[in-house]
Amino acid sequence: MDHHDLIVIGSGPAGRRAAIQAAKLGKSVCVVEKGRRVGGVSVHTGTIPSKTLRETALNLSGWRERGFYGRAYRVKENLSADDLRERLHITLNHEVEVLEHQFARNRVDTIKGEAKFIAEKKISVQGEDGEIIELTADKFLLTVGTKPFRPKDYPFDGKTFLDSDEILDLVNLPRSIAIIGAGVIGVEYATIFNALDVHVTLIEPRDSMLDFVDKELISDFTYQLRDRGMILRFGKKVEKVKKLDGAGCQIDMEDGRSIKSDMVLFAAGRMGATDSLGLENCGIECDHRGRISVNANTFETSVNGIYAAGDVIGFPSLASTSMEQGRIAACHAFGEKAHEPPEYFPYGIYAVPEISTIGMTEEEVNERNIPYECGIARFRETSRGHIMGLETGMLKMIFSLKTRRLLGCHIVGEGATELIHVGQAVINLGGTLEYFVENTFNYPTLAEAYKIAALDAWNKMPH
Ligand SMILES: Cc1cc2nc3c(=O)[nH]c(=O)nc-3n(C[C@H](O)[C@H](O)[C@H](O)COP(=O)(O)OP(=O)(O)OC[C@H]3O[C@@H](n4cnc5c(N)ncnc54)[C@H](O)[C@@H]3O)c2cc1C
Repeated sequence: MDHHDLIVIGSGPAGRRAAIQAAKLGKSVCVVEKGRRVGGVSVHTGTIPSKTLRETALNLSGWRERGFYGRAYRVKENLSADDLRERLHITLNHEVEVLEHQFARNRVDTIKGEAKFIAEKKISVQGEDGEIIELTADKFLLTVGTKPFRPKDYPFDGKTFLDSDEILDLVNLPRSIAIIGAGVIGVEYATIFNALDVHVTLIEPRDSMLDFVDKELISDFTYQLRDRGMILRFGKKVEKVKKLDGAGCQIDMEDGRSIKSDMVLFAAGRMGATDSLGLENCGIECDHRGRISVNANTFETSVNGIYAAGDVIGFPSLASTSMEQGRIAACHAFGEKAHEPPEYFPYGIYAVPEISTIGMTEEEVNERNIPYECGIARFRETSRGHIMGLETGMLKMIFSLKTRRLLGCHIVGEGATELIHVGQAVINLGGTLEYFVENTFNYPTLAEAYKIAALDAWNKMPH
């Protein structure tokens, strides 16, 4: 029977980073992956495909040029689902190749098949052909991720009523789509479809969306969505959903109103992919959403030598943070010191427009009774914004009145997920308002918005 120092179950961002880290420490590592190819949700159904789809939609629709040439501007008329898929396959193949090469270079073994614990430090792996092998290891890392939550009484059919994995296999672009769930995934797809001229209704039982984002940004974002013709049905629950005889679906809301659309995307939550992992055989328990609890510093589970990282442990469920968790878990497993990540990490929402945020929101600063001042810049105040024809986009910074330190940075608009890293560096290095006022920024750039926002705060603060 094969024995390794570390077996990693799942080859998403957490698993792959952990495997490489352990291999670099000289350990023998095996990654077990049940999918057709390595890469995880991140490469095959989540991060990379949705971002590639977004990029393709923005490029082919001419979205970024509409500020200049008007809302009727299109690069390609009659965009089809094939147009969207073409770039997707090329990007995914490239990502997988890079990953396979990385594993090969670092001598990480990969085995294709579904892993299941049969004892505390022993798994069976069943391949596609049904053959079963058994493997043991000193340490295990569970990076099995999540799968879409699918309520039993909803008519999922992979064609007109879909979850967020199935949406990538779209055969035809619908004329209208209703999206249930205004979390990150729902909002991203809603705005992408809207940019493709699909009529979008976004449904959310809560009164608002993306509650962890600064409210001022959300109200700016919400205004933009409504201005583009998106319908937001917030604050009401879905009572019933059914497929219609002709074509399409109908969603009945609790207030008696109904929404008819060609297609429905259900994007309200995901579950830890732990149901068939045989966790009962190694003594690990999950919560009602299939998530595993770990020590927040080491990522070790309740069972010595078995670690878990990535989406299967819950918040923040990002590819970016999953990678760091995997690396720290591998270091801890083999007694290597790993630095702890800083308190604040950036959150990127690849909606159209992008939102990105780090540090405290204005609501959090208020709750903590911290005296503060805000500075705001609009992208249209920058020369780069004029060149790009940007009508929207804002950057908001929150500074402590006592220490003048940057407490939070929040951006909605073109390039927000890249721009945020300036704010991230200043926050995590303990920088103050003076950093932005005293430093020179490239001109013309959108990053100049930092200086404009800082000067806005500076003008309001005591000197
Ligand atoms: C639509 C969508 C968009 C997203 N966009 C972003 C984004 O823009 N930025 C960002 O940072 N994050 C984004 N995410 C989140 C990101 O994809 C996840 O945080 C990340 O993929 C989690 O990585 P992971 O290591 O936990 O494993 P995952 O990527 O979830 O992969 C888990 C792997 O484990 C395998 N597996 C499961 N069970 C077994 C088993 N028993 N045996 C063998 N293999 C098994 C699965 O086949 C899968 O390949 C998005 C997610 C979705 C769904």
